[in-house]
Amino acid sequence: MVELGKQDIAHVLHPNTILPEHEQFGPFVITAGKGVHLWDSDGREYIDGFAGLWNVLIGYGRDEMADVASEQIRKLSFCSSFAGMSNPPAIHLAAKLAEITQEGVSHFLFTSGGSESNEQAFKLAWRYFHLRGEHRRIKIVSLWQGFHGVTLGAVSASGTSHREGTGPLAPWFLHIPPPCNYGSPAGAEYPGCTGACAEALEDLIAVEGEDTIAAFIMEPVLGAGGLIFPPNEYLRRIRRICDRHGILLITDEVVTGFGRTGRLFGVDHSGVRPDICSLSKGIISGYLPMGAVGITDEVYRGLMTSGKAFMHGLTNTAHPVTCAVALKNIEIILEEDLVSNAARVGSSLLRKLQRLYQYPWVGEVRGLGLLAAVELVTDRQTKERFAPSVRVGDRLRSAAQENGLIVRTIGNVIGLAPPLCLTESESDDLVDRLERAVEALEPLWRVSCSS
Ligand code: PMP
Repeated sequence: MVELGKQDIAHVLHPNTILPEHEQFGPFVITAGKGVHLWDSDGREYIDGFAGLWNVLIGYGRDEMADVASEQIRKLSFCSSFAGMSNPPAIHLAAKLAEITQEGVSHFLFTSGGSESNEQAFKLAWRYFHLRGEHRRIKIVSLWQGFHGVTLGAVSASGTSHREGTGPLAPWFLHIPPPCNYGSPAGAEYPGCTGACAEALEDLIAVEGEDTIAAFIMEPVLGAGGLIFPPNEYLRRIRRICDRHGILLITDEVVTGFGRTGRLFGVDHSGVRPDICSLSKGIISGYLPMGAVGITDEVYRGLMTSGKAFMHGLTNTAHPVTCAVALKNIEIILEEDLVSNAARVGSSLLRKLQRLYQYPWVGEVRGLGLLAAVELVTDRQTKERFAPSVRVGDRLRSAAQENGLIVRTIGNVIGLAPPLCLTESESDDLVDRLERAVEALEPLWRVSCSS
């Protein structure tokens, strides 16, 4: 295993990793996974409190998934979707998605991941307006603290630190402030927030001109930007504003899709129907790379007005093996009712997490379904956060790891997004391990308070 570590340092380029530290400490090598558990190269067991990267909804190592993949590889291992070619798994998957997504969402384009889904969503919005002769409608509006991926368009739409440190971003991507969240000015926090902050979109439209804006994109719950849960009224207001100005609404359900929030899709809490929706992650639980973009019948009819092909096909679009595996994943989610499990176990997890309030460095615990956040602060009253140089998130993450738990931290926020198959007793275990990690922050908190 020492060899593996050396080879990793020598040859693997890790994203989202501080490279000099990686050279010093080496990789954290995971060699096996089953259900909600992972094992590292020393044989130590962990609960995966973050389901990989929020995506392993059905848990690790399911035989049914391996069987479907090997069967499909033997039958038909590749088939293009260009020039009208098709294959049964892609057709069945698209039909299933049309059945379970919002009313009116009818056609699906397959991608290899979430960033690609958003790129395609932007291009489809541009194409739609182009064909209507509305050539000025090119701007894409999104939220600061929203996250939509790392490819050029997706990162330009993002409002997080992912924007920093590379070359120029794409033009025509505009941002408005995020919905009220922890630390917002007093009185403007959820549940006190009425969603009126959505009017920032109306203000921006007034400045830019409605005929210049193609689409507004947002996640129903802002994930990588710090787990912000907008009130349902927020998205409803956004929908009304988009309708008033003829702007397409793109919902990025990459994290929230397929049951994560205790409903099948994040928008199902507010009853809002998107014009375009981006899917990935939970569509295949990380068994293979996969994403999709769904469009409504109305958008589809708009695309039909051209006699020319739209030349934006990806080689791996509608891949028969990924489509077959994704379909099996969705069947498992529905048959095992993992969505209700996420709602049920999620609400009891949130209840159990309340006991973290015994530590004065816990400012807030919030969540929806099996998506939860714990805010770490130096002072609960003033909501003052730890200085970035203290790297409280990294400290918490290593303490969690020492206690057999994998979590993700976003600055001062601990993110929890375990697999949706989590049981009550596994969630007890998760909270016990997390509590030990949170407790271990006491010396850091004392030093931060006195400095
Ligand atoms: N949208 C959201 C909401 C995401 O959280 C992510 C990834 N975490 C993406 C898009 C990008 O997905 P991918 O990494 O598969 O490109």
